[in-house]
Amino acid sequence: MTETLKNYIDGRWTSTEATFDARNPADDSVIAHVPSSGTAEVDVAVAAARTAFAQWRHVNPSVRARHLHAIGDRVKAREAELARAITTEMGKTIGEATGEVDKLAKAFHFYAEEATRVHGEVIPNDVDGFTSLAVLEPVGVVGAITPWNYPLELVGWKLCAAVAAGCTIVVKPSQYASVSPVLLFECIAEAGLPAGVANLVLGAGAAGPALAGHRGLDKLAFTGSTATGDIIARNVPRAMPLTMELGGTCPMIVTDKADVPAAIAGAARRGFRNVGQICIAINRIYVHDSVYEEFVDGLTAAVETLTVGDGLDASVDIGPMATQAGVDVVEQHVDDAVARGATVRVGGGRVAELAPGYFYAPTVVADCTPEMLIMSEETFGPVVGVMAYSDLADAIALANSTDSGLASYVYTRDLEQAHELGRLLDYGNVAVNNVDAGIMNAPYGGRKGSGFGVEHGKAGLEGYLEHKHIRIRYGSGR
Ligand code: ADP
Repeated sequence: MTETLKNYIDGRWTSTEATFDARNPADDSVIAHVPSSGTAEVDVAVAAARTAFAQWRHVNPSVRARHLHAIGDRVKAREAELARAITTEMGKTIGEATGEVDKLAKAFHFYAEEATRVHGEVIPNDVDGFTSLAVLEPVGVVGAITPWNYPLELVGWKLCAAVAAGCTIVVKPSQYASVSPVLLFECIAEAGLPAGVANLVLGAGAAGPALAGHRGLDKLAFTGSTATGDIIARNVPRAMPLTMELGGTCPMIVTDKADVPAAIAGAARRGFRNVGQICIAINRIYVHDSVYEEFVDGLTAAVETLTVGDGLDASVDIGPMATQAGVDVVEQHVDDAVARGATVRVGGGRVAELAPGYFYAPTVVADCTPEMLIMSEETFGPVVGVMAYSDLADAIALANSTDSGLASYVYTRDLEQAHELGRLLDYGNVAVNNVDAGIMNAPYGGRKGSGFGVEHGKAGLEGYLEHKHIRIRYGSGR
């Protein structure tokens, strides 16, 4: 029998009358019935988080740390089950899903340790007899709205940092990935986190706007599309801190001094991992004339070896896309490029024999030009566009020409070029001779249309803290 999921609010599992179906993108089958939460459920969850905050904010950081470590241990113990849930609900391969769960467990342990390292400063005053304490306090009740592409990590970064800081949180995950967040909250319940500290409200449609527009929040953390981020930023009900991690149309520059095989391996990895459905996926590639043919041939050969199928099959490299709408966008971008004169070197269409699953073949489109959709908008699918350049300044200008500012990639063995590109690329992350911009203990975030605020690392925790100045007159003047 298909499972009916529940919300986790104030330490209890609760149902809603109305539900909707969650589907497996590999075969379009129904895998769960999901609560259609709305304002009523969000109100109860925010109230529970408010009540819990009054206590949790004063809980000793070492105790908060113990809770986070315990959750991380539960997540790791249930790794295989959580990974299977991810693959079944959004399609990524089981190997990648297992990696995601492992990184989630590490995030709990990382922020458990960071929780105990939050401290302020003693600041000298310009008048004798006074001292100033600058202390850090938790922001309060956090709303977190997350997408389906990293259904656990993107919840986890927010939840771990918020709970470590002494905040409480209400999480609204994507309607396309509800099963794995439920398992995460089972881990949270098993680890004994006090009721109301972390709450889960599932839903489509009404649930997101109800949370994003709730006056009871002190902070909102969002990861998702730029379009939804814009709507949320316009509709927040009162002044409050926001963290927005939005889309990227991420560029890669391969210079005349690049290690071309390494650049090919990097493009094959960061262009096609998670079926290209990553905010920091390589979307558009600018390659110097002198190495263009070698690069395109090599990338084509690498992509030809990728196997497509159900992500639960451990031999598969490319699973289904998470949604049918995502496949439609990819098709539109590839068709647009071809109509404007680009060449499909490999792939270029849906995988008919795997219907009704949402499959699109991994695709390399060469000889692109800047006005093509593939070179100017986020494709968010298993496709990269490649174009040649002759002057590095032009490549930099093209890389910076969109509203995207999340991540950029460079391959060069020339020190001068590496520093120049690191400085001039207008992105929150620049990865040089590697394609892994997001690591746990360094700040990760975008600029321009890709959002603001950071997650990961110490800076990710700071987003859940606010400053307080306590100025004390102690009298003696000495
Ligand atoms: P993606 O398709 O990448 O998941 P979306 O921006 O559509 O990106 O969705 C990200 C999250 O935002 C999901 O949890 C979704 O339910 C939620 N969401 C969508 N529209 C709104 C909205 N208007 N207000 C608040 N949340 C929303």
